[in-house]
Amino acid sequence: METALEAPTPPTDPRAHLASPVTRAALRIQHVMLEGVRQRLSEQGFTELLPPVIGPVTDPGARGAKQVDVDYYGHRYKLMTSAILYKQASLTAFDKIFCVAPNVRLEPLETSSTSRHLAEFHQIDVEIAGASREDAMAVAEGVVEHAVRRVVERAPHELDALGRNPDAFAALLSGTGFERRTHASAVRDLHAMGHPQNADAEIDWAGEALLSAKADLPFFLTDYPKGSRGFYDKEDPGHPGRLRNFDLLAAEGYGELCSGGEREHDYGTIIARMRETGENPAKYAWYLKMVREGIPASAGFGIGLERLTRYVSGTHSVWQASAFPKVPGTVTP
Ligand code: AMP
Ligand code: MG
Repeated sequence: METALEAPTPPTDPRAHLASPVTRAALRIQHVMLEGVRQRLSEQGFTELLPPVIGPVTDPGARGAKQVDVDYYGHRYKLMTSAILYKQASLTAFDKIFCVAPNVRLEPLETSSTSRHLAEFHQIDVEIAGASREDAMAVAEGVVEHAVRRVVERAPHELDALGRNPDAFAALLSGTGFERRTHASAVRDLHAMGHPQNADAEIDWAGEALLSAKADLPFFLTDYPKGSRGFYDKEDPGHPGRLRNFDLLAAEGYGELCSGGEREHDYGTIIARMRETGENPAKYAWYLKMVREGIPASAGFGIGLERLTRYVSGTHSVWQASAFPKVPGTVTP
């Protein structure tokens, strides 16, 4: 029988993939988590909206990934790489929203071996009007804790079938909360480990795995350098060049689970940030019109659903946490 921890080959036959006990257990765990996330966020006053799949423009901040064009009645539209622009738009009507959003990113071929990248995946996407980064981090922490607790309580047989010992979550479920560290301190740690991490960039895949492997519960990294992210992560007014943002990294080497932060909502600043990041503001006409008319300050985050499922299930690769996985470069239905 296929086991969770062997390095398996990505599936090309959907029936065989779905029939695998590993896929079935991981998807049951995913279902239990989604149920829990919806319940928790609903209880906290969030409204679930269904996100659009195509639009004239999408999130440009996906590192190294290509966007997919769609012919929309003669107009060039994009498949959503993330729901960020629509999350901000939704706050003109609702204070607290979430969606389970499908994203398509043609990731570089070298990501096919990271065990963490799909070309099509989903995010549990949350946005909160008037919130700070710290507020958003508290909600993200609560969502992850609740999802894991629910799996341990309600899907013990699935964890057992995957050979995933629930003790792996003892620290997470002890209620101590997740550590918060800065990007700069993570860079120092990586240098001390002999890893050549660029201090002005995203933590690279190998660095992410190294930091994550040292942890026994998820942890936050904050204050990423400007230039490592899209125009919508707010710059810290007290520390120019630093962003009021965060990532949540899983324990045990599973790597990044979530990215989030406070959002830029000032029209002039957004235009300036677009120019700095090489984006043409003219492409973002609908978004900029809305911003000029006024959108609320906000903070939010997106948790990669398949990444979270992989971590909780302990599967080798993220595609084992998807019913119909698209592994970068592998042609599948
Ligand atoms: P990002 O906006 O790139 O930080 O993406 C938000 C979250 O989505 C990340 O923290 C990951 O959990 C997840 N994610 C991003 N890219 C991928 C991918 N190619 N495959 C699977 N999950 C992804
Ligand atoms: Mg990220």
